[in-house]
Amino acid sequence: MSPTVPLPSAEPENPLWQQEARRQFPIVIAHPELAYLDSAATSQKPRAVLEAVQTYLTTSNANAGRGTYPWANRTTELVESTRDRIKEFLHDPEPDRSGVHFTSGTTEGLRTVARDWLVPCLADGDEILVPYGDHRANLDPWIEARRLLAERGVQVRVQALPYQTGSGDYDHRALDRAVGPRTRFVAATHVHHVYGGDMNVHRIREAVGPDVAICLDAAQSIGHLPVHVDDPSLDVDFVVFSGHKAMALPGSGAIWARNARGPEFRPDGWQGTPNTTGIVSLKAALDWLDTVGPERVAHWTTLLATRLTDRLGRLGSYEVLGCQASLSADSTLAAAQRRRGIVTFRHHDIPSDDLGFILFSHGFMVRADNLCQAGADARDASVRVSLHVYNTVEEIDRLLSVLASLA
Ligand code: PMP
Repeated sequence: MSPTVPLPSAEPENPLWQQEARRQFPIVIAHPELAYLDSAATSQKPRAVLEAVQTYLTTSNANAGRGTYPWANRTTELVESTRDRIKEFLHDPEPDRSGVHFTSGTTEGLRTVARDWLVPCLADGDEILVPYGDHRANLDPWIEARRLLAERGVQVRVQALPYQTGSGDYDHRALDRAVGPRTRFVAATHVHHVYGGDMNVHRIREAVGPDVAICLDAAQSIGHLPVHVDDPSLDVDFVVFSGHKAMALPGSGAIWARNARGPEFRPDGWQGTPNTTGIVSLKAALDWLDTVGPERVAHWTTLLATRLTDRLGRLGSYEVLGCQASLSADSTLAAAQRRRGIVTFRHHDIPSDDLGFILFSHGFMVRADNLCQAGADARDASVRVSLHVYNTVEEIDRLLSVLASLA
């Protein structure tokens, strides 16, 4: 279970810390007529990140791990210290930084874990559990791993991680039954990119026991809530995330491997030149996020999502998908803690892509398609509002009044 997030109050106002945080985003303050509500796709970048990249490129741009002159040494030092920064951000107390690997994002990270760690680990008859209803980036690599193994004559059984109907959460009781003596690995998601729910990863660990490896797709949780690997309730072996969703530049991201598994995990082959500017931006982004505080971000975005969900539910013409819908009916503390800053919905009559266009004509940038959910096609399109620290109560209320006029 993720750290406790206070229950949202009924009538939030933008607190001073949030106003100050919002002011750090040049693109946001330059466009007060627009509302960026697509942070699950990518986040906006604070001034500190933009400045760190500019400073690096204008003072010490060079390649990492190659030259011996000062700019090259400085670049190498920046890359290596970012590994430490990632460990610190994730509360990994181990000093060994060899378990942190840079990637271009979550998709490449998950593919790397599948190809370079899972495939060599599995033997004939082993079983893995994978999420068929999450982002396809967290399904395709595991299916590909099965194919690669089959080519070598190793047959692995891929089972679907079971889901509860309606809530969007995994079905942890059914999971208990799905786990067997040959289960070796589970791929899970921390926060669902469509349903906005915290997927209760601690329950997966309870079901599989200590010896099964768990790989966590943290694309929607890093930067949005504390992700602390020293927390016994987040006992996972890999954390994979994208920098660009956590305020850093596109093309940056990382795999964190727990040291118990880390030594076994060596991404294959020559890695080439790292994305130095992306790595510099990632370090600055994690610094900035730690200053603001992921707990506060979690509290704030949950509060806005709650306001949107509850009021949308009362309009009558909208279906809120996944756990957001069930939470309106169930306002217990435990349920409210599972709600995160993503709200996905459909209008009963207006197709979602049309609704996306209508909302943009009013200045709202939302996602309106099948959201890259595994197995979904154009008929499953929906509208997703995804929030970050820069979003405000006014934006949510303006959006609600447009949605109400369409109801
Ligand atoms: N997993 C989840 C849960 C996501 O939301 C996304 C991006 N929408 C990804 C994986 C893929 O991330 P990226 O495109 O940065 O590789």
